[in-house]
Amino acid sequence: GAARDDAGVLGRVRVAVRLRPRNAEEMVADADFADCVELQPELKRLKLRKNNWDSDTYEFDEVLTEFASQKRVYEVVAKPVVESVLDGYNGTVMAYGQTGTGKTYTLGRLGEEDTAARGIMVRAMEDILADVYLESDSVSVSYLQLYMETIQDLLDPANDNISIVEDPKTGDVSLPGATVVEIRDEQSFVELLRLGEAHRFAANTKLNTESSRSHAILMVQLKRSIKGKDSSLSSENFNNPHMVKTLKPPIVRKGKLVVVDLAGSERIDKSGSEGHTLEEAKSINLSLSALGKCINALAENSAHVPVRDSKLTRLLRDSFGGTARTSLIITIGPSPRHRGETASTIMFGQRAM
Ligand code: ADP
Ligand code: MG
Repeated sequence: GAARDDAGVLGRVRVAVRLRPRNAEEMVADADFADCVELQPELKRLKLRKNNWDSDTYEFDEVLTEFASQKRVYEVVAKPVVESVLDGYNGTVMAYGQTGTGKTYTLGRLGEEDTAARGIMVRAMEDILADVYLESDSVSVSYLQLYMETIQDLLDPANDNISIVEDPKTGDVSLPGATVVEIRDEQSFVELLRLGEAHRFAANTKLNTESSRSHAILMVQLKRSIKGKDSSLSSENFNNPHMVKTLKPPIVRKGKLVVVDLAGSERIDKSGSEGHTLEEAKSINLSLSALGKCINALAENSAHVPVRDSKLTRLLRDSFGGTARTSLIITIGPSPRHRGETASTIMFGQRAM
C-alpha cells in the first residue's frame, strides 16, 4: 500500500535535513571558522563538528546541501506525500528548525518573479491541480496559525478561536469554524497564501509577537470521484434498464495534505523583557515536545501515539500512523555560533527515524 515506505515499514516518518548557505553576516563574522556541519549527500550523512579534529556522524533519509534546488527539495521531501494524498490518503510535510534556518523558504516561498524559487506549498498545489481534472473533483484549502494553543484563521482574521472536532469513530479531524476556499488554479492559490501571510503579520503585530513563535498550518482537502472501467456508472450500464437498479454511487476518494511551518525550535531566553515571552516559550515547548513524542511513537511503531497533549498533535491526529504518510524536513544553518541549536535540531530529526 501507499503507506509503506521503501523498507516496507508502515507509519515510519521520512526525515531529511537541509543546510542553508551562509548569509552575508556569517560570511564576515565567521570568515575564519569552519561550518559547524559537514554534509556527505551521496552517503546521506551529516557530520556535526565537536572540535577541530573530531565530529559525530548522523544518517538521514536525505541530506540536502546548500546547493540543493527548491525543485529537488520538493521532489525528495514532499512529492511522495503528495502522490499518496492523490491516491486518497492523508499526508503531512513539516519543517522543524531554529528561526532563520529556512523553514519558510523551504515551504512557503511563492516564487512569483522566479518560478524556480517556489517552495513546497506552491509546488504541491501545482501537482495536485495537474492531477485533478473532473468537474466533480474538488480541492479546497484552509490556512491557520496556532499560537499559544489557540487556532486562528489566516483567511479570516475575525475568526480567532477555532475548535478542533474529532470524529470518535473514525478519528477524522475537522475544523468546522475554519474558512475553506475552493482552489481552481495556481494563481488564486498563490494569492490566497499571500493574503494569509498579510493577515498573519497583522495578527502578530496586534498580539505583539513574531511569526517564529507560532505554527502556520496549510490544509488541503481533496475530494474526487473515481469513475474507472469497472464502475457501474459506465455509459453501457447507464442505458441498460436492468443495471439501473444496481447503480452504485461513484467511489469518492478523500485525501488531506497538511503542511506545517513549525514555530522556531530555539530556546527562548526566559529573562526576555516582553511579559508574554515566558508563556510563549512554554507553549512552544509544549507543542514541539508533544510533536516529538508522537513522531517517536510512529518511528517505534508503537500502538499508542500520544496525540492528546497539545492542539498541534490533536490537529495532526488523522495524519499520524495508519495509512498516513509523514515527511519531516529539519533545517539547519552553518554558523559555528549556532552549533548548540543545530545539534538539538539534528537530535530531534534522529529521534524521528
Ligand atoms: P525560518 O522560516 O526558518 O525562520 P527563513 O525561511 O525565513 O527561516 O530563512 C531565513 C533567511 O535565510 C531568509 O532570508 C531566507 O531567504 C534565507 N534562506 C533560507 N534558506 C535558504 C536557502 N536554502 N538558500 C538561500 N537562502 C536561504
Ligand atoms: Mg519562518
